[in-house]
Amino acid sequence: MKLSIKDLDLNGKRVFVRVDFNVPIKDGKVTDDTRIRAALPTIQYATSQGARVILASHLGRPKGERVEKLSLRPVAEHLSELLGQPVAFAEDCIGEAARAQVEKLQDGDVLLLENLRFHPEEEKNDEGFARALASLCDVYVNDAFGAAHRAHASTAGITKFVAQAAAGLLMQQELDYLGRVINNPEHPFVAILGGAKVSDKIAVIEALIARKVDRLLIGGAMAYTFFKAQGFTVGKSLVEDDKLETAREIMQRAESAGVELLLPTDHVVVDSYDPLKSKKTIPIEFTNAGHVGVDIGIETIAHFARALQDAKTVIWNGPMGIFEEKELGFDEGTVGVARAVAEAADRGATVIVGGGDSVAAVTQAGVADRITHISTGGGATLEFLAGDELPGVAALNDK
Ligand code: AMP
Repeated sequence: MKLSIKDLDLNGKRVFVRVDFNVPIKDGKVTDDTRIRAALPTIQYATSQGARVILASHLGRPKGERVEKLSLRPVAEHLSELLGQPVAFAEDCIGEAARAQVEKLQDGDVLLLENLRFHPEEEKNDEGFARALASLCDVYVNDAFGAAHRAHASTAGITKFVAQAAAGLLMQQELDYLGRVINNPEHPFVAILGGAKVSDKIAVIEALIARKVDRLLIGGAMAYTFFKAQGFTVGKSLVEDDKLETAREIMQRAESAGVELLLPTDHVVVDSYDPLKSKKTIPIEFTNAGHVGVDIGIETIAHFARALQDAKTVIWNGPMGIFEEKELGFDEGTVGVARAVAEAADRGATVIVGGGDSVAAVTQAGVADRITHISTGGGATLEFLAGDELPGVAALNDK
């Protein structure tokens, strides 16, 4: 068990909280504040305990230099509205600018530091930079689950130079839910994976098979690598040709472990020469050389929903088709699965949804509040489920 923010004495302390405020910003306004809201419990708990809260985050990929568009200033304004209290902003995350702002803090105040990644040392986990961040605070809290799979100065290095390093409430919640799924899932345990690449998900698939998931449902472009490996025509659908052997091995491994591997039975295709007007749903075996698979079909949605009927644990990561093409209607399979997992949750299953597109789909389908746990991590969630120890978690003190 990792030390929790609840184990710390925060009163009057300068508390450095690493948050994940990597949110979309347009014209100086935050357009989706899900990640900011997810950090509110930790921030509010800390202020209620009399902490002087110093928040730090990355935003986008400024590649180690100052990029105005990637300033966190709009986030400070937005957070201030959400908290109903002023949030100070430091123009830099280290040095005089930061120190002067920290010195002004009173108990219960909140300060947001400028984008950590304006310094190349952040991603290099540079010791001097980690020490400079640590010098701002008395204790350290990591609430940025979505960044915990990276060993950066603000997620790993800093912990060597602080008296205590603890998990925030969001971090703890993520570790609790995901830990339970991986170590002690209630069966039947059903995993749904989608998205573009098999290669990104091999480790997770192997871990799920080893952990005796009962059913593995695969949709999205990933499925075509499995189809091609079995000798089906996949036309111009997205395939990873160098992963055909891997796909065969996964199928064999699933079979010997008694894991049911379910692939789509029908799909939505378009003709590669006329993608806008040729959309139709066909059985997988009717695919011809000119077809591009863009979504799972209606029969597959029903077939996947049936596989969830008796599920007690469900995890879902990755879209079932080119979800972002809403105008073309390639999002129906993903939205259909969002509804099906919500129904599983209504029947009492523990349902965990992670990854940007899947999370967007449950929101779009209006079922987000029926999901047991929406994970804020993409890569971090997958790495955790694959059984890897996340550097940002490993670096925290044990209880
Ligand atoms: P990932 O990052 O691996 O979760 O993949 C997400 C991406 O997979 C999204 O951008 C989708 O557009 C893409 N995707 C899902 N299904 C398909 C498909 N059938 N063809 C092409 N891209 C797809």
